[in-house]
Amino acid sequence: MNYQTPRGTNDILPKDMSKWHRIEDVIRQFTYLYDYKEIRTPIFEDTAVFKRGNDSSDMVNKEMYTFSINGKDSLTLRPEMTAGVARSFVQHKMFAEADLPVKTYYVGPQFRYERPQKGRQRIFHQFGVEVIGAKNALLDVETIALGYSIVSALGMSQLKVLLNTLGDDESRANYKQALKKHFESDLENLCGDCKRRYEQNPLRLLDCKVDSKRESMLQAPKMSEYLNEESSAYFTQVCEGLDGLGIPYEIDDRLVRGLDYYTHTVFEVISTNDQMGSQSTVFAGGRYDGLVEYFNGPSMSGIGFAMGIERLILALEGEGVDLGEESTLDAYVMCLSQTASLKSLQIITALRASGFSCERDYLQRSFKAQFKTVDRKKAKCVVIIGEKDLETNTLTIKRIADQKQVVCSFDDVVIEMDTLMSEDDHQHECCGEDCTCGK
Ligand code: ATP
Ligand code: MG
Repeated sequence: MNYQTPRGTNDILPKDMSKWHRIEDVIRQFTYLYDYKEIRTPIFEDTAVFKRGNDSSDMVNKEMYTFSINGKDSLTLRPEMTAGVARSFVQHKMFAEADLPVKTYYVGPQFRYERPQKGRQRIFHQFGVEVIGAKNALLDVETIALGYSIVSALGMSQLKVLLNTLGDDESRANYKQALKKHFESDLENLCGDCKRRYEQNPLRLLDCKVDSKRESMLQAPKMSEYLNEESSAYFTQVCEGLDGLGIPYEIDDRLVRGLDYYTHTVFEVISTNDQMGSQSTVFAGGRYDGLVEYFNGPSMSGIGFAMGIERLILALEGEGVDLGEESTLDAYVMCLSQTASLKSLQIITALRASGFSCERDYLQRSFKAQFKTVDRKKAKCVVIIGEKDLETNTLTIKRIADQKQVVCSFDDVVIEMDTLMSEDDHQHECCGEDCTCGK
């Protein structure tokens, strides 16, 4: 057997991890600034959490990994997080918290049985937010602003915010009726999925990737013509809010989004980088009603988005953004003899306890081979303990950048490292080309 990752899944290797860490750092920094708290829900849930009644989305109908262990319980690997977060919100009575809305964020793997291609895997990772318990157009704006700030802070600039509204229940019901009437005569020519969507949720017809160029699609009535006054006013407030924050957007009246419980604001942020192909949506979301009630909670509205981290990385790489390298070592402790080996472990432990990142040799390699490792790991200093040093209780620390060298007692290693490293930082900070510090 040739052991490989299953189709549509990837190993995320140590050499690529610095990108993930950088993205997660920016996510945590911004969610902190916006006062969101992290939530972690199970990787699988009861199938009923995702498969709610007559849901028309491909994700629920075709892409779920559903299994049963004892023939009784049907469980599903989560394909998205909104449902699990809403379930948790009700289960833990977060709706009764004194300070609403509850603002949560998550980062984690999702599972969908899809046809794998660039930017589309069967296991992928999402960062997302769910804000439940307040319906306010400016909260929709804040949510979009958070996602926009994160991708901008990471250096993404080739992007477009697409915005639409699905209106309230009344507007949407009228619009669905208009869509049904419009597509009635062309129904037999539409794809099989569209025939199902026509019955289940005609809004989703607009989302079809197969039939999107058909005349009946191009001529379809527009949501904006069916918005009642309240829905129109809500959407105007969202647009004004985005204008007020200087976030550019385009109104796309064909944007309907995946899940059936969306109301009012829906949005998608796409990468316009030409390497992204048809998998260009980096994050997407909207406002939803009815989901908290579905899980037997009170009637409460929510808003959220989900961002595909693999897609975000593709978009950033497409733009040539450098997400930085894995951090380098502060010190590599050279171990030149068996007898010095325990001492070097003690030294390295003392250095680590004081916050210096360190590594050493465990293969009894030659001096030359260990120096090559120092190079490869880009260590800032080397600590050398030779056979004779054991007799004198001394060691040598060498700063690689300028080869400055100090000999000190074992006990002083932390103090001397501190001095060498802070001199090094000082040089970085002020010894630019125009520096006048005199060093
Ligand atoms: P698409 O139309 O591309 O299938 P979607 O509507 O199914 O997207 P959402 O459910 O809104 O996507 O998920 C939010 C984000 O998660 C997407 O914008 C994308 O960045 C990412 N995403 C969704 N499915 C996948 C996948 N199979 N592989 C990688 N990323 C994905
Ligand atoms: Mg999809």
